[in-house]
Amino acid sequence: MKYEAVIGLEVHAQLKTKSKIFCGCPTDFGGNPNDHVCPVCLGMPGVLPVLNKRAVEFAIRTGLALNCEISETSKFDRKNYFYPDLPKDYQISQFDQPVCLGGHLTINGKKLRIHRAHLEEDAGKLVHAGAAGLHGSDYSLADYNRCGIALLEIVSEPDMRSPEEARAYLEELRTIVRYIDICDGNLEEGSFRCDANVSIRPVGQKEFGTKAEIKNMNSFRAVQRAIQSEIERQSELLDKGERVVQETRLWNESTGTTFPMRSKEEAHDYRYFPEPDLVPLAIDRAWVEEIRKTLPELPEARRTRYVEQSQLSLDDAIVLVDSKELSDFFDLVLKLGTPAKQAANWLIGPVTAYLKENKLDINETPMTPENVRDLVDAIGKGVLSSTTAKQVLAEILAKPGKVEDVIKEKGLAQISDEAGLKDTVAKIINDNPGQLEEFRSGKTKLRQYFFGEAMKATKGKANPQIINKLLDEMLK
Ligand code: ADP
Ligand code: ZN
Ligand code: MG
Repeated sequence: MKYEAVIGLEVHAQLKTKSKIFCGCPTDFGGNPNDHVCPVCLGMPGVLPVLNKRAVEFAIRTGLALNCEISETSKFDRKNYFYPDLPKDYQISQFDQPVCLGGHLTINGKKLRIHRAHLEEDAGKLVHAGAAGLHGSDYSLADYNRCGIALLEIVSEPDMRSPEEARAYLEELRTIVRYIDICDGNLEEGSFRCDANVSIRPVGQKEFGTKAEIKNMNSFRAVQRAIQSEIERQSELLDKGERVVQETRLWNESTGTTFPMRSKEEAHDYRYFPEPDLVPLAIDRAWVEEIRKTLPELPEARRTRYVEQSQLSLDDAIVLVDSKELSDFFDLVLKLGTPAKQAANWLIGPVTAYLKENKLDINETPMTPENVRDLVDAIGKGVLSSTTAKQVLAEILAKPGKVEDVIKEKGLAQISDEAGLKDTVAKIINDNPGQLEEFRSGKTKLRQYFFGEAMKATKGKANPQIINKLLDEMLK
């Protein structure tokens, strides 16, 4: 049977607030276990949470970037469950009145809807230690540094239909949270985590099938592979006439398969109720408009601008826009009047390769937008060839300087002085009467020999077009 996959993603973005969502503890990654804790985030009796305004601001910022409606009133609720990484035995989250409702992202021209985005607090981390036991360890240590860090959970509608589409949605969402600077989007460190809900249905069927939720992926590739493997597992079940059970499954990176964590029967009834220690939020419209004004140009708009106004290919636009730093830099180069395509080629090609190799951000190099303009300029004027331009680029990426100075210092300017080159070519022809003789008697391959000698004589700096033209004239 042919099946169609239905996928919805729940993403937890750790907000880049300096302190936690309900206390003043720092949010820095790392540090010694249980260094960043206080009675509030440890859930001691009698303590009271105080809401971090910046967390609400970041939630609104994200909602606006995702085309959501920002609720006028919102509130917090207790989600009750026991787990050792949750010292209060409940998580403060939002149940029926999230900060953000509705919304969408556009991926390859298709609207993928967002159901809601709500604020909540993160849990601590268990470190499974000791000798190998049932789960590879025989005791666990609790680190509450992460406990109480602000999270924004962004829940999509089940609008995705393939693992590739789900990955593209997730990548775009990550790019956006980085553009608006509310989350560092690090899947490996877990500051941007994704749970994938997957079901399948026979092609043509309207109703959704039973879904399974997959957790524990920490790269884009893992998300895509986990969904693919889950679609295959469910297809095999249905083909055998069996049923998919609603459950939570964990992705195992090394086997490339998912395995059950808990079934719906074991699932929690969270007994949500309004958090009595926090007043409901009234979100002022003027504040929302103020936040809207601070939004940067978003990735989708930027790509469109590059394609429509700068005539870049969509592929080039995608690569540039993927990094805000790189495309901010590109914009500065454009402002200087540099031809877009040439500038983009240098940035996407050799510059990106250099940044990757040296694990640098473009702003961590001494290269300036003026450098890139001057480089493109020098090539356009025939002063640099593509080879010598690469040598100049290596210099301006390594230390501060001007393109024209590097050209002078390294003697890299291309020789385009035709009269001077004519003397060089004449001398080579005169000095090689034997080769000239052979050439004239039909061994035309020797033209290449003369060309090579001319380049050698000018240390590779002669303008090859002029040498060719001179050879055409003088070898007749
Ligand atoms: P739950 O209460 O189990 O968390 P929700 O209805 O809140 O389920 O949905 C959670 C996520 O699962 C959402 O991203 C939603 O789009 C997605 N989802 C819901 N139903 C399906 C389905 N049948 N197949 C795939 N994804 C689904
Ligand atoms: Zn604290
Ligand atoms: Mg869920």
